[in-house]
Amino acid sequence: MDLSTLAIHQEYPQGGDSHAAPISMTSAYDFVNAQEASDRFSGLVEGNVYSRFTNPSVSHFEQKLAKMENTEDAVAFASGMAAYLALAITYLKQGDNVLLASGIFGTTTHLYRQYFGEFGIKATSVDVDDHRAWEKAFKTKPKMVLIESPTNPLLKIANISWLSNLAKANGALLVVDNTLLSPVNQRPLDHGADLVLHSTGKFIDGQGRTVGGVIAGKKAMISPLKDFLRSSGTCMSPFTAWVLSHGLDTLKARMALHIQNAKIIAEWLSSHPNINTVYSTFNQAHEQTDIISTQQIGHSPVISFEVCGGKESAWQFIDSLKMITRCTNIGDTKTMVTHPSTTTHGRYTEEEKQKYGISDGLIRLCIGLETSNDLIDDIEQALVQSDKKQLREVV
Ligand SMILES: *Cc1c(COP(=O)(O)O)cnc(C)c1O
Repeated sequence: MDLSTLAIHQEYPQGGDSHAAPISMTSAYDFVNAQEASDRFSGLVEGNVYSRFTNPSVSHFEQKLAKMENTEDAVAFASGMAAYLALAITYLKQGDNVLLASGIFGTTTHLYRQYFGEFGIKATSVDVDDHRAWEKAFKTKPKMVLIESPTNPLLKIANISWLSNLAKANGALLVVDNTLLSPVNQRPLDHGADLVLHSTGKFIDGQGRTVGGVIAGKKAMISPLKDFLRSSGTCMSPFTAWVLSHGLDTLKARMALHIQNAKIIAEWLSSHPNINTVYSTFNQAHEQTDIISTQQIGHSPVISFEVCGGKESAWQFIDSLKMITRCTNIGDTKTMVTHPSTTTHGRYTEEEKQKYGISDGLIRLCIGLETSNDLIDDIEQALVQSDKKQLREVV
């Protein structure tokens, strides 16, 4: 059976006859007698103990997500960053090296470099698609490798199975942040990754209502993360889990429309005379088309492009949009626009911006569920304004 179908029909742990999965807003649970309390606490029998670490709504979400990622188990957290925190504290110790793919979410790099750096963990960034650089970096005997594929905003691709072989040969764990594609469009565990991570407030929620995180993988890999959750309290609320469980039911249908729209917009932008470069996984000229076709089931709704005329033109374009919203999030019904060089990547030095291709004319769109003609109308009129601005500057 298709994984999405299985997820839709995942049974709610505390049954009843409610057709839609209900929500279990409770902090604690009744035990029949002292023996049962003792057995549940020790883990001898399965059952809920306290919602810091067990709750039916949260478990329901975790089990559905695990099914969709084609694996055994998952553990939910208060946010994507809380999931990254759990990952490091569970799987790293003082003196360990970590490799981070360049282009990984900025706050992830900051967390690992700045905070874990203070505890003697060394994080090194490696160009995501540079095989020689990876081979060289593995000489530092890293314990863990964190990657995102495709990267955001430039849609570079990591070869997950190649990296997983390299990681296995060197005794390192490979963790893939799959937020951008969702389990509908890529299943990294099928390509040899050890763990897959999501910031769930993006496509899994799909309507920008919640903040959350989840990690999925084999039971033996998830169990230590659950132990950390029990002691740290970085848990997802039952309400968030309930929203996300219902979000998973419509994920496949929503992703199809996100991608259909993104393809139309990417093609329209590519044929526009005043746009230098379009970055998207649809782009036939993408250097990694072969990897994309073997490792991805579908494409990314995030696309980026460069306007002529640098920051002035880019800002004029952004400020001229009438419908598309100025927002740095991804994975919403609404199409959103971002100027990476002065927001998400604003903390990069000029040198880093150049190295990683974050130019002043770069604009990122995360395509939503509006009708594509309406999106094109808005983009077209904003480009006219941005071109006028550029002409005025030249004169
Ligand atoms: C948003 C995001 C995160 C951070 O997750 P939060 O839920 O905001 O803490 C991590 N990785 C990626 C790829 C993201 O887009």
